[in-house]
Amino acid sequence: MQKEKLLMIPGPSPVHPRIINSLALPTVSHVSPVLVEELKEALANLKKVVFCEKGEPFIVAGAGTLAMEMAILNTVEKKESFLVLSQGFFGKRMGQIAQSFDLNCDIIECEWGKAVLPEELEKKLSEKDYAVVTATHVDTCTGACAPVRDYAEVLKKHDALYIIDGVCATGGIEERMDDWGVDVVLTAAQKCFGAPPGLSIFVLSEKAMEKRRSMERIPAYYSDVLRWLPIMKDPSRYFSTPCVNEIRAFYESTKIVLEEGIEKRFLRHARVAKAIRAALAELGFSFFTQEPFLADTLSVVKYPEGVEDKSFRSTYYENGIVVAGGLGETAGKVFRMGHMGNLSESQVNFALDTLERTLSTLGYKFEAGSGLQAAKAILGE
Ligand SMILES: *Cc1c(COP(=O)(O)O)cnc(C)c1O
Repeated sequence: MQKEKLLMIPGPSPVHPRIINSLALPTVSHVSPVLVEELKEALANLKKVVFCEKGEPFIVAGAGTLAMEMAILNTVEKKESFLVLSQGFFGKRMGQIAQSFDLNCDIIECEWGKAVLPEELEKKLSEKDYAVVTATHVDTCTGACAPVRDYAEVLKKHDALYIIDGVCATGGIEERMDDWGVDVVLTAAQKCFGAPPGLSIFVLSEKAMEKRRSMERIPAYYSDVLRWLPIMKDPSRYFSTPCVNEIRAFYESTKIVLEEGIEKRFLRHARVAKAIRAALAELGFSFFTQEPFLADTLSVVKYPEGVEDKSFRSTYYENGIVVAGGLGETAGKVFRMGHMGNLSESQVNFALDTLERTLSTLGYKFEAGSGLQAAKAILGE
């Protein structure tokens, strides 16, 4: 058997043994009391994670992209327009979803490594009416974290619904639906919740639900939230067989989040990000993402002179750590390191120690132990 590698890619994130073990629980009937209870609890926990009291949570078999599609299809009508704030790859994908369903969509793009500024949103909203505005919280390709709370402030003065693609943030970086006035937060199981891939996860505000109810027909069947709503309210009813085992595992992941404490979890993500970046900087690496936009959930890292992408990543992999390469214009120039979900501080130390070992193997000159030391100064011994 191949030795298990530590996943430090931008999702899936490392799966905690408690979660893997729940995946191996019996496949019970999807309408059994066990699953009814666990799905209900998972939904209730999910609402706590996004600070939402009254909205409707959904857990549907799929992944982040399905959650994006469902968010759009259930809130945007053919005669309307929606606005995408894009700092990279996944904002573009929102645009592609619009195209696939012939929906009108405008995109504000920005230079990679930055995020769209709230002033740009304000300006655009003064020029045209939008039914919905979407923002990617953290773009996994550029490592840029958008000022989603500042966007919310701007949107308070407008009618548009506000959708946050939190796939690389929800459960790791603060998102307060009620307080900020967010109408949809969407994510997937495999990023900051640290569950295996397989679920589309999202919460709709009351305003978003009203919007769906006001729309007569939407170009979707499986993706229609009104077909799923009765099941989310009473999982003993049937619409389409839920992913039983995956839901049991996701339920466990929500318990882990709440046991840690959601605020503490955000702080841990911030601390770990800072420690990893201090180590990398000490070793001569730099960052693709501009300083104010650095995300707590992943880093997009530029190589120093003398370290080459392919051999670095393959040697790091051989030594036990999986990181991702760059996409598009960054391919070959950066690697992307995820540090989200249930990644423990000892795993971080292991990853950094292994990084130094990898660099030595590649003949790169640095002061041994200096990276790990820089991280430890932040994490505490
Ligand atoms: C990973 C990711 C997605 C896509 O999720 P899939 O589960 O791969 O479909 C969408 N948005 C963002 C911001 C992501 O990081």
